[in-house]
Amino acid sequence: MNNIRLRLAPSPTGFLHLGNLRTALFGFLLAKSMGGKFILRIEDTDQKREVEGAVDSLLNILKWVGITFDEGPHIGGDYGPYIQSQRLDIYKKQADELLAKGGAYRCFCSSERLAKMREEQTAAKQPPRYDRTCRNLSPADIEAKLTNNEPFVIRQAMPLEGEVKVIDELRGEIIFKVADLEDHVLLKSDGVPTYQLASVVDDHLMKISHVTRGDEWLPSFPKNVLLYQAFGWEVPKFIHLPLILNKTGGKLSKRQGDVFVEDYKTRGYLPEALINFCAMLGWHPKTDKEIFTLAELEKEFNIEGLGASPAVFDEEKLDFYNGHYIRQTNIEKLTELILPYLVESNFIERITNYDLRIKKTAKTISLDYIKAIVALEQERLKNLSEIKDRVSYFFEEPDYEADLLIWKGLSRAQVKNNLSELKDKLESLPDFNQLETATLAWLKDSGKKNGDYLWPMRVALTGLKASPGPFEVALVLGKDQVISRLKTAIAKL
Ligand code: GLU
Repeated sequence: MNNIRLRLAPSPTGFLHLGNLRTALFGFLLAKSMGGKFILRIEDTDQKREVEGAVDSLLNILKWVGITFDEGPHIGGDYGPYIQSQRLDIYKKQADELLAKGGAYRCFCSSERLAKMREEQTAAKQPPRYDRTCRNLSPADIEAKLTNNEPFVIRQAMPLEGEVKVIDELRGEIIFKVADLEDHVLLKSDGVPTYQLASVVDDHLMKISHVTRGDEWLPSFPKNVLLYQAFGWEVPKFIHLPLILNKTGGKLSKRQGDVFVEDYKTRGYLPEALINFCAMLGWHPKTDKEIFTLAELEKEFNIEGLGASPAVFDEEKLDFYNGHYIRQTNIEKLTELILPYLVESNFIERITNYDLRIKKTAKTISLDYIKAIVALEQERLKNLSEIKDRVSYFFEEPDYEADLLIWKGLSRAQVKNNLSELKDKLESLPDFNQLETATLAWLKDSGKKNGDYLWPMRVALTGLKASPGPFEVALVLGKDQVISRLKTAIAKL
C-alpha cells in the first residue's frame, strides 16, 4: 500500500453543487488511479450554515454516482474522528503548540475595538485588516489578561515582509507578497477553529498527500503553506481545480438553472452520464475518446490531464452523455427507471410488480406494454423525465385539432377518404403484426403516396406533430385501439 491519500472535505450546508461533485470525483479518481485512499472529512465548524441531514444526503448522492470512501465518519478509520466538531480538543492542542513555537499569538481585542478599527480603515480607504496590536503584548500583559479570564482568539503570526512561494501542481510556482496577508484568526474565543487551522491540522494528521480543492481557495494557499511551515510540517501537494463557468462565461449559479446534482437526478440524468460529463470538466484525456465509465476513469485518470483554465459547463454536452447512457441501458432496467415518472404523471398505477393499470381508462396492462413504449423512446430521450411529455397518447385518446390530420396539398375530404381506406385495409389484415409490410405494399401497388396516408394515420394515433413512426406506434397500441382512433379521426373531418 502506498502513501497516497486524498480527501473530500465538504461543509454540510445543503445539496451537492455540481462543482462539488466535480471536486469529489477528481479527488476520488486521482486517489484510485494512483492506488491510494479516499477519505471523507466533514467540515462542520461553521454551525450556523449547517443544514440538518446534509451529510446523509451527501453520502446518498455520492453513493448513487459510485463515489465511495476508504475512511470517513460513516465507516471509521485510523485517523478519526472524521467530523471536525468532534476534534475540538485536537485543534486546541495544536494551537497551543503553535503559540509555543511563535507561529501564532493570543489576541484579546474586543469585537467593538475590531469593528471600530475596520470602520476607520474603510473610511481611510485602506483594506480592513487586523492592526496586530496584540502581537506585541509582553508575557506579563498576557499573563495578567489570562488571569483576568479575558476572552481571546488565536491569530496566525504572518511574516512581516518578503514573499511566500507556493507550488500548485497545475499552475506551478505562485508567489504571494506577505504584506498582503492578514494575521487572521485560527481559533475563535469559543474554541472553534477556522477553516485555515482545521483544514491544515486535519490534512496533516490524516496524512493527506494531495489536497484537491476548488480554485476559490487559492487566496488561502499562502496562509496554509505558512502554517505548515510554522508547525514544521511537510506541505502536501496542492491541486486547485479550475472554476466551472457557464457558456456565457459567468459563474454557475442557481439562477441560470439547476446546479444541484439532486435536481439532475430528479430530472432523469443517469449517474454514468453525470460522472462522464463531470470528468471532462477540466480533465483532458490523452486521446480524443470522450466516453468513459467510472471503472475506466479509475484507471485512466491522471494529474497530467488536468488543466488550470476554467472548464465550461455545457448542458447540451450533458444531454449528449445522458442520451448515450440511456441508449446503453438494457430495456428491463430502463423500464424500471422510467416507471416512476409515468406513475408520478398519473398515467399509470402499479398493482403488482408486473401488473399495472392505466389510470384514465382503468385498463390493466402488463409491464411489457411499458417496455414497448420505452423501447420506442429509448433512441430519442435526453433525460428520463422527458418521457412524461412524449407518451401520454399511450394512456389516453389523444386530443388534437382536426387540421393537424391534413397532409400537404390534400383537402379535408381527401384525408377523410384516405383514413377510411386505411381503416378498412387494417381491419382486414389477417395478421396485424404484418401491418407495415402489408400497408406499404398496398400503397405501392395502388400507386398511392405514403405521406397522404401515413401522416394522417400517425396523427390519428398520437395527436402529435412529431412522434415515433405510425407502424411502431400502432404495434404497441394494438389493433383495437388503432381502429378506434382512426374512426375518431374520420369523425373529426
Ligand atoms: N469545507 C470546504 C468546502 O466545503 C472544503 C475546502 C477544502 O477542500 O479544503 O468548500
